Amino acid sequence: MLIRGTTKIIGIIGYPVQHSLSPVMQNAALQACGADFVYVPFEVKPDDLENAIKGLKGLGVAGFNVTVPHKTAVIPFMDELSECAEAAGAVNTVKNDNGRFIGYNTDGDGLVMSLINDLAFDPNKSTIAILGAGGAAQGGIAALCRSGAKRIYIANRSKDKAEKLVQLLSSRYFETEFIVLDGFEALTDKLVHCDLLINTTAIGMKYESIPGLSLKNVPKTMKVYDMVYVPSETPLLGNALSVGLSYSNGQGMLIAQGELAFAIWIGKIPPSGLMRSALKALCSK
Ligand code: NAP
Repeated sequence: MLIRGTTKIIGIIGYPVQHSLSPVMQNAALQACGADFVYVPFEVKPDDLENAIKGLKGLGVAGFNVTVPHKTAVIPFMDELSECAEAAGAVNTVKNDNGRFIGYNTDGDGLVMSLINDLAFDPNKSTIAILGAGGAAQGGIAALCRSGAKRIYIANRSKDKAEKLVQLLSSRYFETEFIVLDGFEALTDKLVHCDLLINTTAIGMKYESIPGLSLKNVPKTMKVYDMVYVPSETPLLGNALSVGLSYSNGQGMLIAQGELAFAIWIGKIPPSGLMRSALKALCSK
């Protein structure tokens, strides 16, 4: 990649940021499309966020991704929010529009794209069980509602957080019925009515199982999606495999949110499979 006087900068802010796979995916796509941009990681400590945003604006970067822990904290520094970012209560993509920072959220639509591509699952008129009520759940559920989900069960360790989330989402999405359950165990009985189970919690990143949840008696048509993608097969997905259910990890969501962010900055979706190949090449090293 040749950096010239004309090259525009896109980046990612997070803390930590070293683990991010986005620079590899985005630079591969920029190069393949011949776009005169470069994508760089910026480690930004929470206390430095305001200065960092002012600096990015002053430097005239074309845009940037936002990752943990800044997705909600950046909102006050945005000049405008997209509907998806407002509904998600979080920003993961920022575009510099003639000096104005517009905040977007591509995580939720990335989830829906991955459900369609990786599980052949259309959320329209479906009943979905969600584990978790954090930031990833909010953006994901909002996108599922926009895609026509009929009923959503939400089970979270802290029930009050799930209740707050439902209060927020039900004031925006009237066509979806929300049901909050008391913990993960209570969800087991409801899975017989569900078309899809999604884990939006961090459980599984250290090979932990979802406490109290059993997939033994679920219909064989129910699919399982885990937003966690490292490890590639969490105990939840291993469990889905052992009872014969279709499943996917969250790598497709990571790729799809990146493709949608790319489109916001560059104006087109990168060639299909390119970001996935870049990740595969990185992981095989
Ligand atoms: P977050 O806002 O901090 O929410 C964390 C959620 O996980 C909460 O519901 C929390 O429950 C629950 N949780 C965490 N540890 C738990 C434990 N030991 N036992 C029970 N519940 C636990 O985080 P987030 O941004 O939503 O991210 C959640 C996960 O999604 C992470 O693994 C992240 O990597 C993944 N993610 C993946 C993608 C992708 O592209 N594939 C995108 C975004 C996020 P409480 O409310 O009770 O604390």
